[in-house]
This record gives sequence, structure tokens and C-alpha cells, in this order.
Amino acid sequence: MPESWWLAEEAPPLRSSRLDDPVDVAIVGAGVTGCSCALTLARGGLRLRVYEARTVASGASGRNGGFALRGGAPLYDRARAQLGVERARLLWAFTERALAQMAELAGDAFRPEGSLRLAADAGERSELEAEFAALREDGFAAEWLDELPEPLAGRFFGAIRHPGDGALQPARWVRRLAAHAAEAGAEIREHSRVEDVEALPAERVVVATDGYGGDLVPELARVVGPVRGQVIVTEPLPERLFPCPHYSRYGYDYWHQPPDRRLVLGGRRDTTLEAEFTAEEATSPQVQAALESFARELVGFTPVVEARWAGIWGRTPDEYPLVGPLPGQDRVWVATGYSGHGNVLGFACGDLVARALLGESSPELELFDPARLL
Ligand SMILES: Cc1cc2nc3c(=O)[nH]c(=O)nc-3n(C[C@H](O)[C@H](O)[C@H](O)COP(=O)(O)OP(=O)(O)OC[C@H]3O[C@@H](n4cnc5c(N)ncnc54)[C@H](O)[C@@H]3O)c2cc1C
Repeated sequence: MPESWWLAEEAPPLRSSRLDDPVDVAIVGAGVTGCSCALTLARGGLRLRVYEARTVASGASGRNGGFALRGGAPLYDRARAQLGVERARLLWAFTERALAQMAELAGDAFRPEGSLRLAADAGERSELEAEFAALREDGFAAEWLDELPEPLAGRFFGAIRHPGDGALQPARWVRRLAAHAAEAGAEIREHSRVEDVEALPAERVVVATDGYGGDLVPELARVVGPVRGQVIVTEPLPERLFPCPHYSRYGYDYWHQPPDRRLVLGGRRDTTLEAEFTAEEATSPQVQAALESFARELVGFTPVVEARWAGIWGRTPDEYPLVGPLPGQDRVWVATGYSGHGNVLGFACGDLVARALLGESSPELELFDPARLL
């Protein structure tokens, strides 16, 4: 049984150059963040090398649910309360622009299908109503659905459709991004674990390890905690019931069907919530059983599971990422801690760091300043 269904797709050969030392920038981690940063830096004319402990996209970027959603981990109305209207708006618009760029770069790895955020009960419905009102008030596209099609009707109590979102084959997408970066001149070194950031032969370092950072940067380990997510993929179902990303219970349940009609379903972390705050990249029988039982509830029979896997993401205390230089240092920059919402935000933040290193100032950088937590 393949580990990640996405990673089981054969990776095209990566034609990466070899650069002499020292380089301008060393990036640690070849997930979506590191590869996005590499692409912008290489296109900007810098000499850079990406160090990846395993292979491109082998971390959360090739193990996630494949949801490409705008915004951050908190709901929009909460972000407004936490950040203020202007900064929340800035963050959401930043990710909408990133989605548009992803659509251009990703080819068939991205499907612009929108997404459905569903209310599992009356409490969640009133929270979605508040988010919907806030989005509309601030001029963002969103649709409210009371009438839901089968098999959602009766199980869910309203939904927001986010029309600009989409679905990814995430490993294909990030491998493609790495290929674009390599074509632009980046060196991507797989199977190269970095043990000591200080020893890297580079003027600047970008740490893009999200939940896999361990204690590579001890300050970060204190504020970016590992969280495990688990996913299953079933045999193709008779019908395509869920043609766009669906999620509910604040992201504890998420599922969709790519065009091959397989059901991709993840979450149920709350089955053993405390045990899932771990960096151990292994499935657990309890969460797997809960995912299978939810699949059965959704489709009315027990589909054969063809792949199951786990991945790790990094969570910050306020659920916004940390992006920028480590306080008091100009050499080491970080882009991490997307709190389970990094497919679009990671792409956007990798690019944001690169633009800052190329000398461009962007208002979004202040939103994610690591100094707020470190
Ligand atoms: C099960 C699961 C489901 C998810 N679902 C979604 C979703 O549907 N939508 C969404 O937006 N987000 C989702 N996420 C979160 C999202 O996948 C991540 O936030 C995003 O992929 C982070 O990308 P990244 O490049 O920052 O980190 P990663 O993709 O984790 O990449 C970090 C890389 O760093 C490498 N590395 C670590 N330490 C070192 C070292 N010392 N030296 C060299 N390399 C090192 C790792 O091998 C890894 O490849 C999910 C995550 C998981 C685990």
C-alpha cells in the first residue's frame, strides 16, 4: 500500500544545476515554501541552493489533503477580530493573488473547483454565518448555500462556497514548482539533511521546514509545535459525489474526489487529539478506523482503502505563520508554522521571503513577523 497516494505518482527527473560555494542563499526544506522561495530568488538572479533531507515534497507538501484554500487557519471573522479589518483583508487578498499565480504555474496539478465549508451542527452554522457576513462586508466573493445536494442534505446545515479555491495533486504541484526553480538556475539537493544552519556556506539562510524543523533552530522549536494529520484514499467510487474540496467541523473532517472518483478523506484528529501533537510520521489505528467509518457514513458503503498515510505540520500559538528574519539576526530567515493551512499560504510566504531578500518591501511581511512570538 503506497504511503502517500500523491507521492506514489512517479516523479519526473529533476534537472538541477550544481553551484560553487558559497551561494547567496541556502534554503532548508524542499516543500512548497522552499520551492516557491527558490523560484522567486532564482528568477531574481540570486545563486541559491535548496537542501532537502529526503526528496522534493516528501514532507507535508506531498502528504496533505490537497486543499488549496485562501486565507489563514483562523476563520475570516476571527482574523478580523485578531488582526483588525485592514490586516485581515491584506492577508486574504495576499492568498487570493497566490491562488491566481498557482493556477498559472501548476498546470493539471491544480483544479479551480472552489471549496465548500460545511456546518455540521447549529453552532458551526452560526460561526459560518458570521464568517460569511464578514467576507461579504469586506468585498470578498463567497456564496451561502442552504440547499445542499445529496448526500450532504440532512447531514450538514448550510455551507459557504468559496469560489476561488481549488484542489491540488500536491506532490505533482510542488515537484513542478521545483522543476521551474531548477530551470531558473536553483540548485536542489535532495537527500541532504542540514544539521547546523551556522555551517551552511551561504550569505543568507531560509529555514522552510514547517512541522519537520525539530530543533534545527532552537528558538523556533519553542513556538512551532508538530501536529500529525492522517489521510486515506479509497478505490474509485461509482459516482463523483464530491467534485470540490469539502470540509467541516473546523477542519477536523475534509474530503474530496479527484476526477478519478477516488475519495480522499482526512482529519478525525480529534479522535485522539492529544496524541496527534507529535512529530511521529506514522498512521494510528484509532484515527484510521475513524476515517474509514466516516467514509462509510458519507458514501453509504465501505469502500476499499487503497492508501493511507500521515504527515506533520507546524502550529503556532496564534495560528498565523512566522515569516521573516529571526529577531536580532539578519542572516537566518524563517517561513513556517502555517497551522495546517500551508498549501496556498506556504507558496505565498516562500515568495514573500524571496522578494524581501531581493530588496523589495511588502506590507504582508509585517503580518507574520517572527518577533511577535519569539
Ligand atoms: C495530513 C495533512 C493534511 C493537510 N492538509 C492541508 C490542506 O488540505 N490544505 C492546506 O492548505 N494545508 C494542508 N496541510 C498543511 C500543508 O501541507 C503544509 O502547511 C505545507 O505543505 C507546508 O509546506 P512547507 O514547504 O512549509 O513544509 P513541508 O512540506 O513540510 O516541507 C518541509 C521539508 O523540510 C525538510 N526538512 C526538515 N528538516 C530538514 C533538515 N534539517 N535539512 C533538510 N531538510 C529538512 C523535510 O524533509 C520536508 O520536505 C496539511 C498537512 C498535513 C500533514
